[in-house]
Amino acid sequence: MENVYIAPVAGAEIESGYLRIEGDRIADLGPMTQAHAVPGERIDGRGMLATPGLVNTHHHLYQWASQGLAQDATLFEWLVALYQVWAAMDAEVVHGAASAGLGYLALSGCTLSSDHHYVFPKGRGDLFAAEIEAARSIGLRFHPARGSMDRGQSQGGLPPDVVVEQLDEILAATAEAVDIYHDPSFSSKLRIAVAPCSPFSVSRDLMTEAASLARSKGVRLHTHLAETVDEEEHCLEQFGLRPVDYMEKLGWLGPDVWFAHSVHLSDADIDKFARTGTGSAHCPSSNGRLGAGIARVSEMLRRGANVGLGVDGNASSELTPLAGEMRQAMLFQRARYGPTALTARQALEMATLGGARNLGRQGELGTLEVGKLADIALWRVDGAFTSAVADPVAALVFGPQLPLARLLVGGETVVEDDELKTVSQDHVGRLGAEASRRLLNLAEKKGVTAQKEVHQ
Ligand SMILES: [Zn+2]
Repeated sequence: MENVYIAPVAGAEIESGYLRIEGDRIADLGPMTQAHAVPGERIDGRGMLATPGLVNTHHHLYQWASQGLAQDATLFEWLVALYQVWAAMDAEVVHGAASAGLGYLALSGCTLSSDHHYVFPKGRGDLFAAEIEAARSIGLRFHPARGSMDRGQSQGGLPPDVVVEQLDEILAATAEAVDIYHDPSFSSKLRIAVAPCSPFSVSRDLMTEAASLARSKGVRLHTHLAETVDEEEHCLEQFGLRPVDYMEKLGWLGPDVWFAHSVHLSDADIDKFARTGTGSAHCPSSNGRLGAGIARVSEMLRRGANVGLGVDGNASSELTPLAGEMRQAMLFQRARYGPTALTARQALEMATLGGARNLGRQGELGTLEVGKLADIALWRVDGAFTSAVADPVAALVFGPQLPLARLLVGGETVVEDDELKTVSQDHVGRLGAEASRRLLNLAEKKGVTAQKEVHQ
């Protein structure tokens, strides 16, 4: 690609540059004055901004099928309303929801997404395989986390007993998922993480056993943490510790761990994250939607704790595009801490390199550098209205999402001119809509009616 504004995230920006791809890697990049002609496909990047592909570090893809419900609920109310609906899902629902969810992510510049799947109702097919199949067809890099819950209401947890599994079953299924799917190679498009759901749905034993399993297999650990004040109260009541102290006690801080949310952190908590290399997935739209609070992102970055972005499941962040989360993160920090709290470039760095660090891929992607994987988003900044913004990075972060001219994953085109190229976009959209209808019908057959609870 030539004549393109390059924001590599690592190193200086290049106003008019070239970038050459060989195989699935970046072979060369620099200012146009140093470009030399080589054979192969050429993309004229005039009027475009090249950034690293965005990395989504927290999601629940199945939730595409349960959007717009429990609209005005707190996290705990929302979960209690939805657990019974989710209990009805099957592999077909997950495949349709994941296809639509991942297609939608690709259209907002995402080249690598994690997923946290933690509801495995019995006898409903291979839900984990269903989402992996969806990611393969869309063509994104995918890091699904085998989630789990084992502490139902009868054990003092929040979820009904019908959606939890037994500890032994969970560990066996998680080990099997890693053995079958995890690819540790440099170019890997599929890696597995171990992810018990949250302190209020998981036993102490599962937390510690999950950590030893992940570490024995060399894979990463993920869970929800410090999302709401209710969670903090639950942890104090049940374990006598605040969430971060509880996780520290269980051996859950470290460079192989990233937590979703990390909203309610003290200075000491942030310092522990920075010291141990523990990462966080900041999900501003979901936190706003559930009224959970706003993470202290600028302070976390200032103290050296890693932060990436996540859209979170669509049931708490309906139709949230990943590119839009840069803006949301920036505006929330500024609304609370003032106009210098988070810059456009810091927001872009969180969405790319910060995400890559959360997922342990910073050696392979997250910046545009020679030798890294050619995961690149190419944004149009020459539109009728967008060309009025002098700085392309400001146009990307300050405004709504820019048109996506091209999305490359390992040099392969996944999106061109805002259209999925690997699959039919209409078909994928329909799969998502059908998954939603199917899930609500399956739930109704079990006597569960999803309440819309629209408050006027
Ligand atoms: Zn979540």
